[in-house]
Amino acid sequence: MSTPRAVPRRPRIVAGNWKMNRVAVEGAALARELASLHAADPAASGAPIAVLCPPYPGLESVARALAGTGMQLGAQNLHAERAGAFTGEVSGEMLAAVGCRWVIVGHSERRQLMGETDAHVAAKLRAACRDGLTPIVCVGETLAEREGGRTEEVLVRQVTAAWHGLRPAEALATVVAYEPVWAIGTGKVASPAQARDAHRVIRATLDRVVGEGAGATMAILYGGSVNAGNAAALFAENDVDGALVGGASLEAASFWKIVGAAATADVAR
Ligand code: PEP
Repeated sequence: MSTPRAVPRRPRIVAGNWKMNRVAVEGAALARELASLHAADPAASGAPIAVLCPPYPGLESVARALAGTGMQLGAQNLHAERAGAFTGEVSGEMLAAVGCRWVIVGHSERRQLMGETDAHVAAKLRAACRDGLTPIVCVGETLAEREGGRTEEVLVRQVTAAWHGLRPAEALATVVAYEPVWAIGTGKVASPAQARDAHRVIRATLDRVVGEGAGATMAILYGGSVNAGNAAALFAENDVDGALVGGASLEAASFWKIVGAAATADVAR
């Protein structure tokens, strides 16, 4: 059962992580399709913040397609340094210069496939804040960790490593995405109760690490096989403030239904 929501009111956010999909012209076409759905659906256009995170080469063309729509642009990663001899990397300053306001940090695919550690995630979180981007910091346990009863321990470790020492004023403006690794791209979505319980662990940890009240203030998204059919049940949990969406963000109709579910949930809370 959901608990009464705590004040202050947190933002609703639905972010689409396109991963390594859609060349620039395809990305611009998808963004234009979403822009017309956005324009045609005033009910969904106000409350949830819809964020599109295309691959780097698509950022500029998606930015043009989103101009004036209210939908916002994000990137999937950044380097912790501002500039220098880091071949193949992109800085937060560069992302902001092409119109990004958001950046995903510490996605499990980067932790698992690119060797990103908790220390890298902490450095990137700080870089995003420094460069005026809102980081969406991903945390979440693997299947083995869940089955071994270690979910809470993993979440506490990841959240503590990322936010420890960050100034509260900066920390409060950041966003968490709870993304259980076993649910990402697998079609196995966490139940609303599993998402709620994990979000509560994260909120309690933020209270300890950032300061009392931080957990109630900061938005926590759920990510992992969210689609048009399961989004409403997840958003009905007061502790779930939105979603980070992979596969279902690659089609305008399914992503827009998830944004619509967030708008309906926002009216209800
Ligand atoms: C993700 O990439 O962050 C994600 C949650 O993917 P999917 O929705 O496809 O599980």
